[in-house]
Amino acid sequence: MKAVCWHGAGDVRVETVPDPAILYPRDAIIKVTSTAICGSDLHLYDGVIPTMQKGDILGHEFMGEVVEVGAAVKNLRKGDRVVVPFTIACGHCHFCERTLWSLCDNSNPNAWMAEKVYGSTSGSGLFGYSHLFGGYAGGQAEYVRVPFADTGPMKVPESLTDEQVLFLTDIFPTGYMAAENCNIQPGDTVAVWGCGPVGQFAIKSAYMLGADRVIGIDRHPKRLKMAKEQGGAEVLNLDEVEVGEALKEMTGGWGPSHCIDAVGLEAHGSGIEGIYDNVMNALKLETDKPAALRQAIVACRKGGTVSIPGVYGGLLDKMPMGAAFAKGLTFKMGQTHVHRYLQPLLERIVQGELDPTFVITHRLKLDDAPEGYRTFRDQKDDCIKVVLKP
Ligand code: NAD
Ligand code: ZN
Repeated sequence: MKAVCWHGAGDVRVETVPDPAILYPRDAIIKVTSTAICGSDLHLYDGVIPTMQKGDILGHEFMGEVVEVGAAVKNLRKGDRVVVPFTIACGHCHFCERTLWSLCDNSNPNAWMAEKVYGSTSGSGLFGYSHLFGGYAGGQAEYVRVPFADTGPMKVPESLTDEQVLFLTDIFPTGYMAAENCNIQPGDTVAVWGCGPVGQFAIKSAYMLGADRVIGIDRHPKRLKMAKEQGGAEVLNLDEVEVGEALKEMTGGWGPSHCIDAVGLEAHGSGIEGIYDNVMNALKLETDKPAALRQAIVACRKGGTVSIPGVYGGLLDKMPMGAAFAKGLTFKMGQTHVHRYLQPLLERIVQGELDPTFVITHRLKLDDAPEGYRTFRDQKDDCIKVVLKP
């Protein structure tokens, strides 16, 4: 089959690789019909997530048709059309039972590596996201093996197109959980740093969850325009205003009730590989980054929440912890518990409350994935979200 393979920073290739096969009774094989490139893939593309190996198959946002199931998978059959959460979860461990799916204790055989990189345990296995998260082959491919297929994949109605449901695999739940983590109350103002795909869904979700005002922050005019026109947000261009001052002014001096960091690692183009280099990389960026997270903490209103869907790795220094402590802030972060949101968010799509296709700007063949990565990474051609068709 064909698959998008990682070969180093800035180097992804479409290659012919062996087809996946059922390895365990709870596995299924999915024929991928649509897959997308995520901002998280850019961290791999930039070489800032350690333990990638040459030839690793990328991709964690994908859906398709079940072509084979293991003996223990009773809920799926050949021919079923499913979306697959990017987080891999066993469904039965201490964490899965508490719906903390992205912290599953049984799906990441390489959790020990996290002890070395982060000095602590890590979360669940992830598709196509380095050996630190289990080394699973990803879904930017013609076929993919889905472990614990009796727990993760959700069947989707034929009446909806691939593009309408594809983002249930990640960015819609991610934006939604980021907003839900803010515990939004009537009258609240929510500021969202980053108007990429995740930020766009965070903006929409903040309104769905009752925010009075949402403010989107970015520097990319097309993304700000989308946040304003599609999301109904007020927007700030960080190249044109001093963000902290502007937020104060817009909120009567109080700052936003809650702040969402949908930016994460901003190390585009650093090209550093290796297990410990990630930490060094984070330290090197220490002087001016992570700008968004620091701004969010400083700007946030007393008693508010700083919600962090943006992905971080390694160490970050110079965090304004004094401000966070003095203001009694709450921090919420982590990989999304996608399984928790599949059904409820599908219902919102079915009911026409939200059409997730609004973020798509580029549709390419799987063969054109290298161009897709470059275009998305450099925000060329006003790119916001790339969907690949195997
Ligand atoms: P993206 O790279 O397309 O979007 C990031 C946006 O942030 C860009 O539009 C960029 O212009 C903007 N930006 C950069 N620096 C900024 C700053 N200082 N202030 C404000 N905006 C700034 O990526 P995406 O797909 O939208 O993903 C966003 C983040 O969410 C990434 O870190 C990604 O890894 C993460 N993510 C997390 C989860 C999860 O489970 N927690 C899931 C998916 C994605
Ligand atoms: Zn993603």
